[in-house]
Amino acid sequence: MFIKDKFINKKPIISFEIFPPKKTGSIKKIYKTIEELAVLTPDYISVTYGAGGSEHDKTTEIASIIKNKYNIESLAHLTCINSNKKDIYNTLNNLENENIENILALKGDIHPDYKLKKDFNHASDLIEYIKENFNFCIGSAVYPEGHLEALNKSMDLFYTQEKINKGTDFLISQLFFKNKIFYEYQEKLKNRNIKVPLQAGIMPVVNKKQVEKIVSLCGTYMPEKFIKVMNKYENNKEALLDAGVTYACDQIIDLLSSDVDGIHLYVMNNPITARKIVERIKNILKYLGENNG
Ligand code: FAD
Repeated sequence: MFIKDKFINKKPIISFEIFPPKKTGSIKKIYKTIEELAVLTPDYISVTYGAGGSEHDKTTEIASIIKNKYNIESLAHLTCINSNKKDIYNTLNNLENENIENILALKGDIHPDYKLKKDFNHASDLIEYIKENFNFCIGSAVYPEGHLEALNKSMDLFYTQEKINKGTDFLISQLFFKNKIFYEYQEKLKNRNIKVPLQAGIMPVVNKKQVEKIVSLCGTYMPEKFIKVMNKYENNKEALLDAGVTYACDQIIDLLSSDVDGIHLYVMNNPITARKIVERIKNILKYLGENNG
């Protein structure tokens, strides 16, 4: 099923994002993770794509297990800056053969070791190519705080519009820790008459070093309250888990109460945080499922 169609009945969409194991990691562990996430009946699970190359095939393999073994819709991430048209064609062909219908079309993170190729410079080039050659539902990434490479936020919005013009069906936001930033961004999209659904990207923080690394890469603002919580509990795993899940739930409940189209949880392959969050909000989701649409 196309993910865009899941937004039609106005029930908030809940999705999880996972990543393939690194070269040395066990593929069995990720299968166990999927099994535990599947029990939580998300609307879909997305699988990241290493722009560097080593985990490409694993993305297809994992997305296929989600879809074909667990009967849960999967969203395969696909990056383009270090691929040529032939590589992209082959990957899309493999995804299609595995019955995968949804792609998150991305430029990809630039890494000094990666060889950049010239066929695709931006995500919009990839979106155009997919729409011309295949029949996939396409998601795109957006950045409520602006993308780090963007000239300014207004140009970033201009290029987001470009991605939609080329065929993006729905949007997923970069993670954020302050909802006001997301609401202001929603308003900006509305002012540009952008109407495709937008899911809010939320990361439950259960590891201080991990979040600091991610924030340094994407420039997300960390509110004082958030920093205080991390600093207080950084040395106690269980306490930080409680605090991180509670912080994420506060954000999610506020977003759901503001009729957000969906929540995309960056679960970092940790089914425990996903389970704790779903458990906390299950009655809210039930209520919204029964009363929206
Ligand atoms: P683009 O839309 O191409 O935008 C990148 C920058 O270029 C922006 O500053 C934009 O304003 C500018 N721009 C866009 N079009 C043009 C144009 N025509 N001319 C000039 N400037 C332009 N990375 C991975 O490697 N693997 C993943 O699996 C992955 N998953 C992600 C999932 C989500 C939800 C998010 C938010 C990010 C993810 N990323 C992933 C990171 C992403 O690849 C990087 O942030 C990348 O730098 C930008 O990707 P994009 O698709 O948004 O790029």
